[in-house]
This record gives sequence, structure tokens and C-alpha cells, in this order.
Amino acid sequence: MPELKHILEYANNVLSVDQYNDYGPNGLQVEGRREIKSILAGVSASQALIDEAVRINADMLLVHHGYFWRGESPVLTGIKRKRIQTLLSHEINLVAYHLPLDAHPELGNNAQLALKLDMQVEQRFDLGGAIGIGYQGQLKTAMDADQFASHLERKLGRKPVYVKGNDKKILSIAWCSGGAQSYFDEVISRGVDAYLTGEASEYNFHSAMENQVNFFSAGHHATERYGVQALAELLVKKFDLTYSFFDQENPI
Ligand SMILES: [Zn+2]
Repeated sequence: MPELKHILEYANNVLSVDQYNDYGPNGLQVEGRREIKSILAGVSASQALIDEAVRINADMLLVHHGYFWRGESPVLTGIKRKRIQTLLSHEINLVAYHLPLDAHPELGNNAQLALKLDMQVEQRFDLGGAIGIGYQGQLKTAMDADQFASHLERKLGRKPVYVKGNDKKILSIAWCSGGAQSYFDEVISRGVDAYLTGEASEYNFHSAMENQVNFFSAGHHATERYGVQALAELLVKKFDLTYSFFDQENPI
């Protein structure tokens, strides 16, 4: 039976975790069983995801948003105590990959988003000191802002929040999954027609209007569903595991 340490070694290497100075630890976060035959993947290590892992007797949880974020209180109280207690008492491993799973050129959220949304990747760029988490390219079919918003809703199953900066067709686009709305102004200087991310802030509206650049917020959860699934599928093939994905509905 595959051992946890071999799966971790392989995944850490594929994702080049050592290259990232992340907001939380990448790889193993809570240790459980030594041998792994089943993985449950999800976007965030919520209690609902852990409860599902208990229900199906998964050996390992694989997530994009784990625990122990920089700046968060280190004490184990409240929902954090309950989550970790459930993991430990059922010996379920919690494995999390954050920025490396946004940036990876094939498995990452942004690469997977390009496939899902028919966007051609031309280059990756650094954002906020994180290597290659920004993506830039072209829409395979040019669309104006309203058409692209409908396209996002169709493909991601969630209505985007968007600001139409101009009436022109969008061709060049930059994107970064999750909560990357604070990088909008930095991205505008790259000369793209539109920026797509997961969340929105009030000031994004004014930047979009005054710079006449389209801004799209398609959901933090909705834009980060795909990287963890691509990674899980790779691990399943490599180590002959069983796997399922638990998609907890999240409108944000
Ligand atoms: Zn995220």
C-alpha cells in the first residue's frame, strides 16, 4: 500500500513547494495514518469536508486552503479545535497546497481555469512576491464584458460580479484565482483588456471605470475548485488510489 511519505515527497516535488514563501505551510499539516489508499479532495478544510472524510473513511484530505495561516492566532479553540480533534481522532491526514497550487503550469488553479474558460496562456508573472501566480493570455473567442460574464456563469455555475470598463471586445486578459483583487492596479499596467479574479473590493469599481479596463470577480471558491482536483487525479494515477471530490457550495 502506498505510504504517506512517498505521496508527500512526490507532490512536494511536482509542485516545487520550496520555491514559495507562503502564508501557511505547504504539504502535510496534520498527520494521520501512515498508509494511504483513498483521498478526499476539497477547496477548503472545513468541518463539512472533514465530516465527509470520516463518513467515507478517507485516509487523506487534500485541500487548497488548509490551516495555520500567517498572522492567525495559534491557539486551538472553537471551530479550529473541533476540526483538528476530528482529524486526529480519526487519523486522517490533512495535506494542503496553497500558492504552489495556484501557480503550477499544468495542475494549478490558473492553468486549470484557462482550460475551463477557453483562455490561451501566453505568460505567467509574479504577484505580491509569489512566483508565477499571475497568468496572462487571450480569449480564444473575443467577447465583450457582458458576453464574458455569461460565459463565466455558464462555465463556473455562478454569476460573476463585474465592472464593464469599456464597450470593446475583450481579447487580452490576465487572471489570478482566489482573493487577488488587490493586484488589479498592478495588472492594469500590463495593458490587458480585462482582469479576472475570485473576489472583489469596493475600490476595484473605481479602478475599472477610471482605467477603462474590465474587472471580473467570479468567486474565490469557484475559481479554485480545479487545481486540487487536477493534483488529486495525478496522485491517483501515480499511486493507484481511490479518490473523490467534495464540492461544498460556497457563494463567495
Ligand atoms: Zn484561495
